[in-house]
Order: sequence, then C-alpha cells, then structure tokens
Amino acid sequence: MSEPGGKHVDCHELGRRLYEFLDQELSDAECQAIRAHLEHCAGCDDQLRLEERFLSHLRDCCTADQAPPLFRERITIIVRETLEGRG
Ligand SMILES: [Zn+2]
Repeated sequence: MSEPGGKHVDCHELGRRLYEFLDQELSDAECQAIRAHLEHCAGCDDQLRLEERFLSHLRDCCTADQAPPLFRERITIIVRETLEGRG
C-alpha cells in the first residue's frame, strides 16, 4: 500500500522537525506531511500545542531578541523529559 502525497512522517521524525515546523522553515510538502501526521496522532498534536504555547510565551517575555540555538535545545530537552515523565 502506498500513501498519497509521497512523504511519510513518523513520530520520531516529527519530533526532530517540530521547531522547524513552528518556525516555518519547512517546505510546503514537508508542512503538509507533518499536518497529516498530527491529524491522526494525538501524542504529537499534544506535543506541538505544548511547544507552541511555550514558544509564544517566550516571545512575549523576550521580544527583543530570539532565543539562541543552545537555549532552544535545552527547551527541547526539558519539554521531552516532561512529556516522557508524564507518560
Ligand atoms: Zn506521532
């Protein structure tokens, strides 16, 4: 069975691309593949909403400059640990 639209994104791939997706750094096709995954995966949908809220909170707090890459990486780790600890 082949999937229409070509690209398939699994949970692992989505986790790696979440920030790129939120930062709108992905191509249309990649965004579409991610949205398709989110539609049928409550876990990743949950994670996306969590990170989205977190990022918008960050932007509210420090609108002057963007979070440096290292800081972003730390956040990713913290969010991941939170999610895993919850499970
Ligand atoms: Zn998933």
